[in-house]
Amino acid sequence: MPRFVSARNGVILATGGFGASDALVRQWAPEFASLPTDNSPGSTGDGLKMAEALGAAVEGMGNVMCVTGVKSRRNIAVRLASPADFIYVNDSGKRFVEENEAQDTLVTAIRSQHDGRCFVIFASKTESGLDPLTRKSLYRLLVAGDVFSAPSVEKLAAILKLPADNLARSIRRYNEMAVQPGRVGKCLAMPCTLLDSGPYWGYEASLKIHYTAGGLRIDGKGRVLNKKGRPIPGLWAAGGVTGSVHGANCTSGNGLTDAFVMGRIVGEQASAARL
Ligand SMILES: Cc1cc2nc3c(=O)[nH]c(=O)nc-3n(C[C@H](O)[C@H](O)[C@H](O)COP(=O)(O)OP(=O)(O)OC[C@H]3O[C@@H](n4cnc5c(N)ncnc54)[C@H](O)[C@@H]3O)c2cc1C
Repeated sequence: MPRFVSARNGVILATGGFGASDALVRQWAPEFASLPTDNSPGSTGDGLKMAEALGAAVEGMGNVMCVTGVKSRRNIAVRLASPADFIYVNDSGKRFVEENEAQDTLVTAIRSQHDGRCFVIFASKTESGLDPLTRKSLYRLLVAGDVFSAPSVEKLAAILKLPADNLARSIRRYNEMAVQPGRVGKCLAMPCTLLDSGPYWGYEASLKIHYTAGGLRIDGKGRVLNKKGRPIPGLWAAGGVTGSVHGANCTSGNGLTDAFVMGRIVGEQASAARL
C-alpha cells in the first residue's frame, strides 16, 4: 500500500540499483535479461522510476555488471575474492582471459566462449586460504554436487568433462607464469597462487547480475538533474540509484564508498536547504 510522507526540505532517493527488476534489466540491458542476481530483492529500481516520472534524466543504464558464481540451483554464493587465486577455462580446457581484467571485459570474454561456458579451476593452496564463510559455502556446494574436487588434474578434467591434456597444459602454463611473470599477464600485477598440488577444485561458472552502474543523472552535489541538465528542485539521490559515478565498471569497494560519500553530501545539502 502506498504511503505518503510530507517532506519539508526535500527528498533524498537512496533506493539502490535495479538488478532485481527483470523488467528494467530487459528494458536497458536485454543481453543480461533472465540472468540470476545476487542483489537483494529490494533492488527493483523504485526510486529510479519515481524520479523518471518527475522528468529526471538517467545515464549509463546499459552498464550492468555481472560476476561469476557457481552454476547451481541452490542460492549459495561462492565468490573467490582474488583473481590471483584461480583460472578461468572454457569447455576446451583452455584459459581465455586474464582473470584480473575489468568486470565488463571478463563478462564479454566469457560470453564469447563456446556456449558461453566457463569453468573456475583452483587447487589446494587457494582452498586452504579461503575465509571460513566462503569455505563453508564451497563445501555445501561440494556436497550438493555443484562443485568438484579431485586428487589430480586428470581426474578433475574427467569429472568436469574437459579435455585433460588441455586443462593440464593451461594449469602448467599458468604455474610457469606465476613463478616467472614475464612481460604479460596478471601475475605481473599480483602474486599469483600456484595451482600445483591436489586436491584440485573446479566448477562451472554462471553469470549473475551484481551491480547496475546506471541510474539517475546527478551533479557533484547529488542533485537529480532533468533532461536539460538542470537540478530538479528538492530532489537528491545517492548510491546505487544514481548513474553518474562509476561508468561501465564499479570497481571493488567503490559501491559502498559511493553510497557513504554521496550519502553524506546529499544529507548535508538537504538538511541545509530551505525550499
Ligand atoms: C552481494 C554483493 C556484495 C557487494 N559487496 C560489496 C563490497 O564488498 N564493497 C562495496 O563497496 N560494494 C559492494 N557491493 C555493492 C554495495 O552493496 C552497494 O553499492 C551499496 O549497498 C549501495 O548502497 P545504497 O544504499 O545506495 O543501496 P542499497 O544498499 O541497495 O539499499 C537500498 C535500500 O532501499 C530499499 N528500497 C528500494 N526500493 C524501496 C521502496 N520503494 N521503499 C522502501 N525501500 C526501498 C531496498 O530494499 C534497500 O534496502 C555489493 C553488492 C552486492 C549485491
